[in-house]
Amino acid sequence: MSELVIGAHVDQTDPIAEAQARRAPVVQMFLGDPQGYKGPEVAYAGGAAALREAAAAAGVGIYVHAPYIVNVATTNNRIRIPSRKLLQQHMDAAAEIGALGLIVHGGHVNKADDPAKGFDNWRKAVEATDIKVPLLIENTAGGDNAMTRYLERIQGVWDAIGSAEGADQVGFCLDTCHAHAGGNALESVVEDVRAITGRIDLVHANDSRDDFDSGADRHANFGAGRIDPDLLASVVRDAGAPVICETPGGADEHVADFAWLRERL
Ligand SMILES: [Zn+2]
Repeated sequence: MSELVIGAHVDQTDPIAEAQARRAPVVQMFLGDPQGYKGPEVAYAGGAAALREAAAAAGVGIYVHAPYIVNVATTNNRIRIPSRKLLQQHMDAAAEIGALGLIVHGGHVNKADDPAKGFDNWRKAVEATDIKVPLLIENTAGGDNAMTRYLERIQGVWDAIGSAEGADQVGFCLDTCHAHAGGNALESVVEDVRAITGRIDLVHANDSRDDFDSGADRHANFGAGRIDPDLLASVVRDAGAPVICETPGGADEHVADFAWLRERL
């Protein structure tokens, strides 16, 4: 079975050309600097409206990955408040380019904090955000007191946001590298996550350079990392959601990764 939609994370200057170079129906990109608080920027010539039109004409679906620094869970006001603002700005920009979804990491609270505060901050963030395209919360590999590394924390986030207005527009992005390095059994992770969230909207398919439960976030091309190939493929197959490979390299490496995966689906 190989009808799954598979694409890759690409450079934001011309995502349509990047998609075509990979024969991929979907791509993911950043809007601006993934490490900065400066708001989103559309690098595509002609801007947001032109990109939206070009993507529709080319039949390319675009996912937007929010900056890594966004942490709406933290108890630190000086990070949480700008994070919420940045999230809304990216939400607005994602909607302008007609994105299929906005992916954001679960974030974390400080080491000594009660995780319940982070769960409640997630509820507040969902309530405060005008959600225009699906907001997909991604599991992370490590970090102290992370919100979406372990299943019980994902459960905490979901319990908290369940009552928030807009919660039906919040979904889940499952990253295979993060699940493995984060210490979650890939044999059951799809079932385990679905039991909590009810949905998996997107898969970030990546091999991992590091061991199970290492807490490290270093992606590898398929077969070049520490994840059992059949297990990796089974997660992708069972999730049954669109796939974005965030693996190293350019078009050639990605095309090889797509082929590796399709062979095993
Ligand atoms: Zn990812």
